[in-house]
Amino acid sequence: MEKIVVMIGPPGVGKGTQARLLAEHYHIPQISTGDILREMARFETKLGLQLKSIMASGQLVNDEILASVIQTRTTQPDCSSGYILDGYPRTPSQARTLEKLARGQSKEVRLVSLSVPREALMKRLTGRRSCSKCGEIYNLYFRPPQKEGICDLCGGVLIHRVDDNEETVSTRLTAYEQQTAPLIEYYGESGRLLSISGERAVDEVFADICSALEQ
Ligand SMILES: [Zn+2]
Repeated sequence: MEKIVVMIGPPGVGKGTQARLLAEHYHIPQISTGDILREMARFETKLGLQLKSIMASGQLVNDEILASVIQTRTTQPDCSSGYILDGYPRTPSQARTLEKLARGQSKEVRLVSLSVPREALMKRLTGRRSCSKCGEIYNLYFRPPQKEGICDLCGGVLIHRVDDNEETVSTRLTAYEQQTAPLIEYYGESGRLLSISGERAVDEVFADICSALEQ
């Protein structure tokens, strides 16, 4: 495929599932910025030590270091046929940096933006209940338990996470829209944006993403 796939999507859209499916299907790694930062901070290299002290002091890792981390990770052999990025780029400036990196690696960047209408997302997120005993996940709208408030599998009590309430979810969705708008605009203008509707079955969404990527 020789592509760099940047995945974005609001909470509850199923981005993680789709990223995993893509990684399996194309045999390419899924690279999460948070994970590689934590991993690299464990090594006693110059970059590792730098990261360690930044993270220990609670500061944000700056663009220059991030770019260097991404470059180091993506020049490893498992990235030669492409890779999926999660958590990077977050700004048009980072997107321009990625563009240069991509040219150097002879790859093309595509932004896969997964979306679901806000109302449906609210239902997915606020309807979520999980079993306090076995962790099974239910949804009051899409997958209700047979007996209200009780787990079908183990009889445990279902709980509603505090941050799944309507107000918190709505704030998270608005924050997501504000953060990603400039990125969507950047990729839209350069013809690298693939807008995919996430409001269907997982395998249908996946088929859509694949056919958009292969065009
Ligand atoms: Zn249970």
